[in-house]
Amino acid sequence: MLLFVNGTIHTMDPLNPHPEALLAHNGRILDLGSLRHIQEKHPGATLVDMKGKTLLPGFNDSHLHLLGIGMRLNQIDLSSVESIEALKEKLLRHQGDGDILVGYGWNQEHFKEGRMPSSHDLDATGILKPIIIHRTCVHMLVANTLAMEKAGVFEPSGLFKESGMNPLKDLVPPPDEKALAGYILSAAKVLLSHGVTSVQSDDLFMVDTSLHQLVFDVYETLERENRLPLRVYEQTNFKQYEDYLKNIPDYRQDRTSDRRFKRGPVKILGDGSLGGRTARLKEPYSDDTGTRGLLNFSPEAVRHLFQLCDEHQLDVAVHAIGDEMLQIALEALEPLKHAACRHSIIHCQVTDTETLAALDRLKPVLHIQPGFLNGDIHMAPSRLGPKRLRTAYNYKTLENLDLVIAFGTDAPVESTNPFLGIYHAVTRKDLKGFPQDGWLPGQTLSLYDAIKHYTVDGAYASYDENKKGALKAGYYADFILVDRDPFTVAKDDLKDLRVLETFVGGQSVYPLD
Ligand SMILES: [Zn+2]
Repeated sequence: MLLFVNGTIHTMDPLNPHPEALLAHNGRILDLGSLRHIQEKHPGATLVDMKGKTLLPGFNDSHLHLLGIGMRLNQIDLSSVESIEALKEKLLRHQGDGDILVGYGWNQEHFKEGRMPSSHDLDATGILKPIIIHRTCVHMLVANTLAMEKAGVFEPSGLFKESGMNPLKDLVPPPDEKALAGYILSAAKVLLSHGVTSVQSDDLFMVDTSLHQLVFDVYETLERENRLPLRVYEQTNFKQYEDYLKNIPDYRQDRTSDRRFKRGPVKILGDGSLGGRTARLKEPYSDDTGTRGLLNFSPEAVRHLFQLCDEHQLDVAVHAIGDEMLQIALEALEPLKHAACRHSIIHCQVTDTETLAALDRLKPVLHIQPGFLNGDIHMAPSRLGPKRLRTAYNYKTLENLDLVIAFGTDAPVESTNPFLGIYHAVTRKDLKGFPQDGWLPGQTLSLYDAIKHYTVDGAYASYDENKKGALKAGYYADFILVDRDPFTVAKDDLKDLRVLETFVGGQSVYPLD
């Protein structure tokens, strides 16, 4: 029995917001209240001195790619590169001895050349192995000539988008059981260091379809061996239309068990990204009137998949960034009958009057990534133009519709640190403090609500609202100790908060000594 004392406790439970002490036992929270009261009832409890620090519920990242985070630890990080020349130098310096060179995170918005890299740039490095480099959005990549030759595909620019990327991604040797476990555990370590104790993860997006069952098996083996240190709710992405049709009838969503790895909703990747101009818009992009983005599935196919999931009482989680994709998703949602389902929209970045009315009517759960503000503050105005911008990234408007808004990061697209997202949501600024008065400042959220979206609402999305998200008696003992109280620091300092210790099921899992 551990009795946490001598710190500030924020439970996110409005009925008991700041108890003096918290008692954890057998993986659960046993009691919260005054120290004297708890000690009288449980005289043998071991005291844990919080030394004036702050205790919060563990964060729940409502949409990320856990395997992708682990894989990236073995690839070249190009996210801080500010020119194509610097990108080439970085590839040369980190060639390693693998058969293929994989980089990620580049963003032409940061390049002084102001353009995307090409196969010619990669060829010019003189590196004699296949190279593929993923854009930060992971919806497009650039390959060198050698990679295209090996994959049997060709584009003069070397640029590939969405499913066109698959032959090139297939050049990377598939991970075996041991590699998959390694990716999961190394990603978990990063997440726990940021106080993330639960994730909702689309892992299958990251691997070939033939490995889907193996990914589930590896998670279940890790759990059986007591080696899975955080809770994972899988957003199961079957990727190909035929595979959805084949797999949905036998797929069982786990809404009730206390397992750490649980099968969650069926994930559908509806459109692409705004940065890559592949998110599907109703009107052309303001900075490229030749395109409205793309759809990965026809509206009829989306409707059919929604119906099929509904027949089998499965939730759908659909990636929708552009306003047209959002509309298609909401129209597919409209006729579904099972009121018990918690269908969700991932991203929901660009709305309009019509989709806002449908969101209000249908009340899907939203998975929102406030960390996107850091880059999109600079990119979205030119992509969308002033009119559409007024109803984009409109977190406060969505909150006012009484929707459950579960925050996350889409990592490895963005950093897994929840305090960055919380900072963006309550300041509407990028990490450099731009713009000074906040971007679309009417959409600023309160700190309490931002933390609630990262804890309580994420738990609701996975049917765990009576088990986690807040600190209450009977809930999982998933909580974090933070160096400063977020409710007393200046808003601009929220991004610098540090997690000192992370507990999952009452066990200290970060830092490990
Ligand atoms: Zn994603």
